[in-house]
Amino acid sequence: MKVETQETGKSDATAKLLVVQGYDMQLRDLEREMNDIPLRKKEEEDRLTEHKEALVAAETKQKASQLAIKELEAESVSREEKITKLRQQQMQLKTNKEFQAMEAEIAAVQGEISGIEDRELGLMEEVEAARKEMDQKKQALAEEEAAVAGDCKAWDERMGELESETERIRAQRAEAAQGVGDAWMVKYETTLERKAPAVAIIEDGICGGCHMKLPPYVIHDARRGDAMVLCDYCGRLLHWPG
Ligand SMILES: [Zn+2]
Repeated sequence: MKVETQETGKSDATAKLLVVQGYDMQLRDLEREMNDIPLRKKEEEDRLTEHKEALVAAETKQKASQLAIKELEAESVSREEKITKLRQQQMQLKTNKEFQAMEAEIAAVQGEISGIEDRELGLMEEVEAARKEMDQKKQALAEEEAAVAGDCKAWDERMGELESETERIRAQRAEAAQGVGDAWMVKYETTLERKAPAVAIIEDGICGGCHMKLPPYVIHDARRGDAMVLCDYCGRLLHWPG
């Protein structure tokens, strides 16, 4: 399709646009990479979450064992009190038989106390194991934090590079865009929004954008280069590479 514009004699318009397009493609890649960086940094932060959760789990385990020890201590104290009471009662007893029965009762409570003490020892070992685990998790977290900080710094540096690269390419693009007629530029930019790249090179009679075979008159018009010629199939601006 041939589009008449007031800007005639622009035989090199598509050639210039190809240069602009080269910069635009680079800018797109740069933008894509820049948009990706916050996500990469988020992934880095997520690496820490796992380690933080592992540390909290170890802490929780330790606290649970400590609490259980306290409960056992209270149970032990109440049994000691019970023994004291039984001893007082024992003194009031008249017969040897009653005394012996009370003695057996006291021995049973003492047996309970040693059972409680055994459980306490087991729990103390658990507390110690949990403490060691917490130390390990703390160290692992510290190492991971250092690694994440290093990686994030690298991402920030990369962002800085990409920003200056973008600035540099934008300046080159602005320079390359000079001398391209407004109508060509508007057509190029609106096409680019829908289809990138917007300028297609004709190769072996085929549109480089959609790979459809172009009618001879379209090739003929593009070859003359004095008007805007669009691919009938994809709408891209056609460039004859001659
Ligand atoms: Zn096409």
